[in-house]
Amino acid sequence: MKIPRIGVVRAKEPTSALLGKIETGAARILSATISQESGRWFVSFGCEVERSDRPATHPEAVVGVDLGVHHLAAISTGKYVDNPKALNRYRRRMARLQRQLSRKPKGSKRRMQTTAKLTRCHRRVANIRNDPIHKVTSHLASTYATVVVEDLNVSGMTAAPAPKVDDKGTFGRNGAAVKAGLNRSVLDTSPATFRRQLTYKLHWHHGRLIVADRFFPSSKTCSSCGEVKAKLSASTRSYRCENCGLEADRGLNAAMNLAAYGRRVLDVAVSGTETQNARGGGHPRQKPKPPVKREDGSGRPDRSVTVSSQGEAA
Ligand SMILES: [Zn+2]
Repeated sequence: MKIPRIGVVRAKEPTSALLGKIETGAARILSATISQESGRWFVSFGCEVERSDRPATHPEAVVGVDLGVHHLAAISTGKYVDNPKALNRYRRRMARLQRQLSRKPKGSKRRMQTTAKLTRCHRRVANIRNDPIHKVTSHLASTYATVVVEDLNVSGMTAAPAPKVDDKGTFGRNGAAVKAGLNRSVLDTSPATFRRQLTYKLHWHHGRLIVADRFFPSSKTCSSCGEVKAKLSASTRSYRCENCGLEADRGLNAAMNLAAYGRRVLDVAVSGTETQNARGGGHPRQKPKPPVKREDGSGRPDRSVTVSSQGEAA
C-alpha cells in the first residue's frame, strides 16, 4: 500500500480480497489508521463495501445459543463449541511474565522487554479466544435466520458473590476477587464479543437476533416439561429435572429453552396476540404459567416491538 509521506509499504497479511473489491468497484477506502503495538505496525482501513451475502440457508429455523464456561457455546441443535485449550497455557505464561515484571525496576530495559512480551501474550490470547467466536457466529448467521441469546451479564455465573458480614458489621473475605477474575476472564469479554459479532453478521445475512428478557430463566427451566428450578448452582454441568426426569447437558438445556423462547416471540410478532400464543397451540408441553407470561406484568406490554427494533438496529 502507498502511504502518504512514507511511501510504498508491504503488508504482511494478504490484501488481495480488498484489492479485488476495489477493482470491481464493490469497495471504497475511506480512511486508513496506522498504529503500533509491541513492536508491530498495523494499518486498518475504514471501507465502504457492497456486500452480497446470501440469506440464511435455513430461514425458518430458530436456534438458541447458550454461552458458558465448559463449552464456549452450546447450540440448541446439539452442537457444542469448545473453549480453545491453548488459552490455559498462555494464562500461566502471562502470570509468570507478570511476576517477572514486578521484580524489574521501573524504567529498566529488561522491564520494557518483559512488557513487550506480555503485550504479545495478551494479543495472542485475544486472537485465540476470538477465532472460535468468529467461526461460530459466521456459521450461525449464514445458516439460521433467527438466533436467540441470553441477555448480557444476567447469568448467575457473573453475579457478584454475596457479601459476608460478621457480628461487628465489617465485611469479611467472600471470594469476590477470585470471582471477579473468573467473570472477567471467561464471561465478561466473550459474551459481549459474541453478541457484537453475531449482531453484525446476522445483519449481513438479513437474519434477526432475539435477546431473551433478562428475567427469563434459561438455565433453570426444564426444556422438556417447563418446570422451573428455584436454584441451580453455577458449577452444575448437567440439568436433572425432578418433575419429568430429563437429564441433559446444562448448556444444551438452556439453549433449547432460548430457542423455544424465540419461537414464542416470533409467534407473538406474527399474530400480535400474546397470551393466546404464548400458551397456545404449538407448545402442548408448556406449563400454564410459562416464563414468557411472567414478563407480561413487567412493564413491557409490547415486547414484540422491542425485539424487532433490536433486530433492526443490529
Ligand atoms: Zn422436566
